[in-house]
Amino acid sequence: MSDVSIDDLPVRDELRGKSPYGAPQLDVPVRLNTNENPYPLPEPLVERIAERVREAARHLNRYPDRDAVELRTGLAAYLTRTAGHPVALDNVWAANGSNEVIQQLLQTFGGPGRTALGFEPSYSMHALIARGTGTGWISGPRGEDFSLDLPAAQKAIAEHRPDVVFVTTPNNPTGNAVPAEAVLALYEAAQAAKPSIVVVDEAYVEFSHGDSLLPLLDGRPHLVISRTMSKAFGAAGLRLGYLAAHPAVVDAVQLVRLPYHLSAVTQATALAALEHTDTLLGYVEQLKAERDRLVAELRALGYEVTDSDANFVQFGRFQDSHAVWRQILDRGVLVRDNGVPGWLRVTAGTPAENDAFLDAVRDIKKEQS
Ligand code: PMP
Repeated sequence: MSDVSIDDLPVRDELRGKSPYGAPQLDVPVRLNTNENPYPLPEPLVERIAERVREAARHLNRYPDRDAVELRTGLAAYLTRTAGHPVALDNVWAANGSNEVIQQLLQTFGGPGRTALGFEPSYSMHALIARGTGTGWISGPRGEDFSLDLPAAQKAIAEHRPDVVFVTTPNNPTGNAVPAEAVLALYEAAQAAKPSIVVVDEAYVEFSHGDSLLPLLDGRPHLVISRTMSKAFGAAGLRLGYLAAHPAVVDAVQLVRLPYHLSAVTQATALAALEHTDTLLGYVEQLKAERDRLVAELRALGYEVTDSDANFVQFGRFQDSHAVWRQILDRGVLVRDNGVPGWLRVTAGTPAENDAFLDAVRDIKKEQS
C-alpha cells in the first residue's frame, strides 16, 4: 500500500502538489492557535445538551429535519435580538460550520469558469474552498497596515469582475474590522461590475467593538452574512455555521446542499446552546477584556500590534516569525504562524493562559536584549 502516494492518483489537476488546511493540533499545555473559546461549556448546558440529544436519539431511525426549521427559527431569533434588526426563518440557512456555508455558497455562485475574490491576508479557507469547488481565486489587496484599502479594493473588483467577493470583518488573521461604509462601497462596486454575491464573513463579530452588518441586508439581495457558533458560542466541536441573506439566496443554496446534511444530533445540540445564549455571551465579555489586555501588554513590551475586534491579536514584527513561533512553543505555548511575513497571531485564552503567553514573549525579549 505504501508504494502509492497522492501523486500517483488521478486527482484533479488543480489539487496536485497542494497542502490541506493545516493548523497544527499539538498537545501542549497552552493552545492559543485556532481562535477557539477557552471556556468549556457550562455544566447546566452540558446537561441540557444531553437531554436534547437523548430525545433526538429516540428518532435516529428517521432522517433529520432536512430544513432544520426549529434551529433556523432559533438562530433568526438570536440574530434579531442581538443585531436589533428583524431576521426571519426564511432569511437563515445553517450547515456544518461556516466552512460548509461558504462551500455551499461557492458551489451555488462560483464553480468552474467563475471567480471569487478576497482581500488578503485573510481567512485562508476562502481560497481553499474556492479551489475545492473549481472556482478561480483572485487575491485582492490590503493596505500596508492590513486595513482595507478601499480605492484599491474597488479597482480590483472593477478589473476582475468576480462572481463572489469575500469581506471578512473582523478579519482573520489580522483582527481588524472593515467599516460598514466600506462594505457598502464594495457592494456597490461588485454590483456595478457584474453583479456579484458579496459574502461578509462575520465569524468573530460578537467580539467586535462595532455592530453586525446585518441591517445592511435590507434591499441588498446579493449580500450574505456568514456566522458561526464556533467562536462566541464556544462550540467549535459542534460544527454549526449559518448565514443570513435574502430568502432567494436561501432558496438557491438548497440546490447544492446534500439532503439531510445537518444531523439530528447537531440540530439538538445547537438548539440547547441557543437556550444558553446569555451565559455564553457572558464569556465573550471576559474574552474581549482579555483581548484588550493582550493588545495593551504586547504594545507595552514594544511589539507592533494590529488593532483587534476579534478574539485574537496579530503581533510582530519579526525578522523570522517562524523562529519566534518555535521559541514560544518551546515555552509551552502554541500560537499561530499564518504565513504573514513578520507577524504571528495569538488567540485570547483564559487569564492564566494569556499570562503564560505573555511570560513566554517577555522571556524571549529578555533573551534577545
Ligand atoms: N470564517 C473565519 C473568518 C474563520 O476564522 C473561521 C474559523 N477559523 C471560519 C470562518 C470557519 O469556522 P467554522 O467552520 O468553525 O464555523
